[in-house]
Amino acid sequence: MSSTDVTIVVVDPAELKPADAKKLPVRDGDDAWKITDLRQIVEVLNSDVERLVTELGVTEHELDDLLHTSEGAGDDQADAGSTALEREQEMSIVNNTRDMLEQSVDALRRIKAGTYGACQSCGQGIGRARLMAFPRANLCVTCKQREERR
Ligand SMILES: [Zn+2]
Repeated sequence: MSSTDVTIVVVDPAELKPADAKKLPVRDGDDAWKITDLRQIVEVLNSDVERLVTELGVTEHELDDLLHTSEGAGDDQADAGSTALEREQEMSIVNNTRDMLEQSVDALRRIKAGTYGACQSCGQGIGRARLMAFPRANLCVTCKQREERR
């Protein structure tokens, strides 16, 4: 388990052409994507990826330390309990960070593939406003809400 499990994708915003933006799926009633919006999203995703890789490295290191803290060596019951709790918390931070990293990388991959902006569940456009606010989003609001209700 390490951050190298995630294959990092970086998109150079300068390489994106207005035509790349125009062909992306939009939500009914939305205007076509503008290259400026797409570049802005790419910049956010690129810096998210960079930040998350760093964070993941730090939390994984901390988790590693916690996992290698010798089990019960001189610890009393309370110490052992708090170490277990700490490990659990650290593990959930690592998992969350990894999820966010994977979602960001996946978004960049979809931008490269020209499929960014389509809901991964129903195939409809996610909507520019939602993506500008949540560049990692891969579901439209309707599908997201349905998923959360499950
Ligand atoms: Zn959907």
